[in-house]
Amino acid sequence: MRRQAPPAGRSGQSWTPGEIFALVRSGRAGTRAEIVRATGLATSTVLLRVQALLDSGYLVEQVHPHPGRGRTPRALRVRADAGVVGTADLGPHHAVLGVVGLDGALLAEQTRALSIADGPTAVLPWLVRALRDLAAAASGPAVPLLGLGVGVPGPVSAATGRMMSPSLMPGWNGLDVGAALEELAGVPAVVENDANLMAVGEHALLGPGVQHMMFVKLGSGIGCGVIVSGTLYRGSRGAAGDVSHVRASGAPDITCSCGRNGCLEVVASSAAVVRQVREEGQDVASAAEVLELLDRSEPKAARVLRRAGRATGEVLAGMVSFFNPEVLAIGGVLSQAEPFLATLQATLYDWCLPMTTDGLTISTSKAGASAGIIGAGRLVLEHLLSAAAVDAALADGRAASGQPAP
Ligand SMILES: [Zn+2]
Repeated sequence: MRRQAPPAGRSGQSWTPGEIFALVRSGRAGTRAEIVRATGLATSTVLLRVQALLDSGYLVEQVHPHPGRGRTPRALRVRADAGVVGTADLGPHHAVLGVVGLDGALLAEQTRALSIADGPTAVLPWLVRALRDLAAAASGPAVPLLGLGVGVPGPVSAATGRMMSPSLMPGWNGLDVGAALEELAGVPAVVENDANLMAVGEHALLGPGVQHMMFVKLGSGIGCGVIVSGTLYRGSRGAAGDVSHVRASGAPDITCSCGRNGCLEVVASSAAVVRQVREEGQDVASAAEVLELLDRSEPKAARVLRRAGRATGEVLAGMVSFFNPEVLAIGGVLSQAEPFLATLQATLYDWCLPMTTDGLTISTSKAGASAGIIGAGRLVLEHLLSAAAVDAALADGRAASGQPAP
């Protein structure tokens, strides 16, 4: 399976081409001389391995001439146009689709209507077609689609890759969505819970300076992705951060999608907010319409959102106290509602000790609606471009494009 690149500066002779590629990809070395310094390998060995990575299309060379300064070091970069990956963040009623280059850059983004309750036999073939079309439009039909990364609004087993009782996805329980996508598309697919992907995407934008963070997604459900020491934390089964069904004080006596009563979801999900605003006598059909009421300074909408923000803040206070993150990023449609966010923040400061909240940044997501597709791109590239995957491709005589190496 996946192998971490050995630490820079390690002595010994066993740096594989894949490990050298990982060194360049991480930004820890950008020239042949830097690779020699970082690995302690003989210059001749580095030249050979770099040449193999150039020949197979994993790396590309850039020359920046400096007139009059003698020989110019040739910078090595990941070859971004050797292929692309298709990414998607599936919600109950819409999908955000993306195309990501091998250097991690988001090349295209599109939002499409979707009914996830139509089930996998309708949704997955549609998804593969839509991602192929978007990739071809973004980078031309000649650039191969090398993999897929997809976020789903339900828990995915860390051990088996199968959906685990996803309350918002009727007809999907027990399905290995990644295997089904691989079968349909003929390329590797990585499938992950949507809030986990959003946490990875937000973390990619914040950079490695942030090591411990939580990303809370407020939408049809309430999910939370957790980054520990710079890495996604999934828990023993893959259900870490699923906060929708934590008991919330003041929850009305309404049965939740999980079949129990008193969950946070029945107070603070977008559907719950819409329901409560309707109970206050305002005719709204969506969270977006609730935000429009707020813009018109409608006090009933603000009151419902403050109640939802307080319940969410109380649940998150326990988690923030336990986990002590540096960043709590809030995403999803309700993160745009000021009364919700302000009450959530005030409740957290009220319920946590200053020791926990000093130095805690609470903010709306910087990646916004793109967080999921950026995170999906990051995870599928980690899979496709790991040192072990690159070494296996070179041993099989395959290039970065998946084609036989020249
Ligand atoms: Zn529930």
